[in-house]
Amino acid sequence: MLEVLRHHGPARLGIFHLGEREIGTPALISLTVDQPFGPELSISDGSTDITDLGSLLLPREVRAFGILPDLAVGLRVPRRLAEEAVEATLAHAVNHPGQGAVVVGSRYLDLRLRCARALVDRPLLAIADGSKLAENPRLLVEVVTGVREAASPNAALYFPGAYPSLFPLLAYMGVDLFDTLQCLMEAARSRLLTSQGSRQVQGMEELPCQCAACAGKAPGDMGYREIKDHNLYAALRAVREVRDGIRHGTLRNLVEERASASVGAMAALRILDREKGPFLERCTAVGT
Ligand SMILES: [Zn+2]
Repeated sequence: MLEVLRHHGPARLGIFHLGEREIGTPALISLTVDQPFGPELSISDGSTDITDLGSLLLPREVRAFGILPDLAVGLRVPRRLAEEAVEATLAHAVNHPGQGAVVVGSRYLDLRLRCARALVDRPLLAIADGSKLAENPRLLVEVVTGVREAASPNAALYFPGAYPSLFPLLAYMGVDLFDTLQCLMEAARSRLLTSQGSRQVQGMEELPCQCAACAGKAPGDMGYREIKDHNLYAALRAVREVRDGIRHGTLRNLVEERASASVGAMAALRILDREKGPFLERCTAVGT
């Protein structure tokens, strides 16, 4: 369950209660077990903080808190398939109260909302197809704000697969949890995450960063491990910037600054401002 301490618009600074543990949010979820420097939360197929309970095609036994399996059909599928995914995901979830769950429904907003409302008592909701949604500004805004409003304020909202450059905008729409997926994916492509997106390390004349993974190194010294570590530092830094922005009321400035470097993020911010005024106001009205 998430306890909200402070709002900045729809963004929330909170504490996610996980058994005896208290995790400050927004937080970064690590998707690997071996971490060079403490992840704030981790998801694995073992028994770490949050267990990934697999897919409905191969569900794992529920032994500890986790995210229940869903039927992952993708974003651009026919409506009938998206409906089947919602029904199968909810039918499984009903047998496991108290567990986190995935909001499915592909690109159909009404299905996403139906799924989120049926899961309203869950402590954690993951939004399916995160990285694909991030490529569709309008759908991104509709789904995230819709799910945020349909969910309980005490549900932590997890957006998987986002680039750190998008963390401020997502937090501004009420997302509480991010992950390290793009840190790993971009490292596999020899790309360094930056506050604007990512850049290929080959061809750089010098490293644009002085984090512990980059300090004292040249671009040619950066192998997969060094790039991955840099990317993890970059993601942690992005989450800390978001928390700092909420704490000090400067998140909106950070959102605009990061969005200015991305056509997609800027389009999403314009849609949010132009069409989601009531959402922003309702969230501000209950804020502190
Ligand atoms: Zn670095």
